[in-house]
Amino acid sequence: MKIPLTIKETQDGLIKKEFSAVQLVDAYLERIKKYNEEYNIFLTTSDEIAYSKAKKFNDLDQYTEEFFKENPLAGVVVGYKDIFLTKGIRTTAGSKVLESYIPPYSATSVSRIENAGAIPIGKLNCDAWAHGSSGENSDFGPTKNPWNKEYVPGGSSSGSGAALAANMSLITTGTDTCGSIRLPANYCFSVAIKPTYGAVSRYGVIAMASSLDTVGPIGRTVEDVETVFNVIKGEDGYDGTVVNSKFEIRNSKLRVGIPKEFFTEGIDPEVEKTITLGIEVLKKEGIEFKEVALPSTKYAIDVYYVIQPAEVSSNLGRFDGIRYGNGRDSFGDEAKRRIMLGTYVLSAGYYDAYYLKAMKVRSKIISEVDKVFDEVDALIAPVAPTPPFKLGDKVSDPLTMYLTDVYAATANLCGIPSLALPSGFSKQGLPLGFQLMGSRFSEPALFELGKLYHKAIDYVPKVAF
Ligand code: GLN
Repeated sequence: MKIPLTIKETQDGLIKKEFSAVQLVDAYLERIKKYNEEYNIFLTTSDEIAYSKAKKFNDLDQYTEEFFKENPLAGVVVGYKDIFLTKGIRTTAGSKVLESYIPPYSATSVSRIENAGAIPIGKLNCDAWAHGSSGENSDFGPTKNPWNKEYVPGGSSSGSGAALAANMSLITTGTDTCGSIRLPANYCFSVAIKPTYGAVSRYGVIAMASSLDTVGPIGRTVEDVETVFNVIKGEDGYDGTVVNSKFEIRNSKLRVGIPKEFFTEGIDPEVEKTITLGIEVLKKEGIEFKEVALPSTKYAIDVYYVIQPAEVSSNLGRFDGIRYGNGRDSFGDEAKRRIMLGTYVLSAGYYDAYYLKAMKVRSKIISEVDKVFDEVDALIAPVAPTPPFKLGDKVSDPLTMYLTDVYAATANLCGIPSLALPSGFSKQGLPLGFQLMGSRFSEPALFELGKLYHKAIDYVPKVAF
């Protein structure tokens, strides 16, 4: 069977009885079996759980529009980044430390996705502990980009982007501490929302840097990502930072800022061009653009690489092998590097010079960004400075690798949402796109802009093969 590429196509197919939920699971698992060895996208598949769920939903007579209103994700096959706890399904965080860990409960986002009817198909490869930008830091081997397997799919949610490009899942989940939802989406021709900090519960998601971590969906259309976001958002009583805030579009006429600091020398000409074209398209649709200045954002990546290791050094302390896991000997080089850096910036002699200073600059960046949102509703920017790069190109040079996140850090430091949108392909046939950041809890405005843009360019979801 031909696998449908969106939630709507899937649900229309079920209503028209073109296929059953069990046939859908068959089709996805067949592709995973056929291609996974080559691309290293799934670390675990949950065949039994997928089939038992699909069987529950296999009576085709139940499928009506009404049914899908109550079960918005019925029939939707989902893969989770392997950092989301899934009851009874192995969860490794991409690390040998948790190689055989089976969680006794599921993350809030996982339970909500499944309560809405989704069918869990398995767990997706990622950089160990979500440390990375390319997917090459996984202890289970690098994920390859389905658009060209010599290239990285983006990290750290590498399998979450690649599974969509390889048509192995309809939607996936990721975490974004500094770009890890947006980058794989961008490098794999998918749509993703990095939500406002405090919009989606982090309960049951293995912590990386707690003041920056966010949980969000990746899919092939803005509509699909919005549907999943609406399912997972909101208070659960287990994450004190989540509030049931009002999500809103503040203005009927949307204005977008072009922050000049995000278009500096390091940017690849094809990345810049796709954004320039995007601006023209949106202008024709009546969106107003203006140049804005965010001078302190040039420090965002430096600030991130002080705060993030500091929080990591504390969060990874619990993996001592006493209650669960294999203990510290199994930590990889990148995790060790971050624990050492973090311990150093927090040590008595260096706390003021590094951690405290970084926190002050973070506050400055937040106040600049907050102010700019008095003038505009969104900011347009690249997700990364270049299109996907070759596997192995940056692994031996952590500093160059860290610079991949130079445009991602601002949204995490400020806790603001950002929507990553695919726009086209480079001359080499690799995915291109950009991000739209908004003020806190302005996700609906970003979705509206994303839909407007995709409609204007006649965007159609695509898979690599
Ligand atoms: N690439 C960044 C890092 O390595 C961010 C990863 C993430 O967002 N999880 O820290």
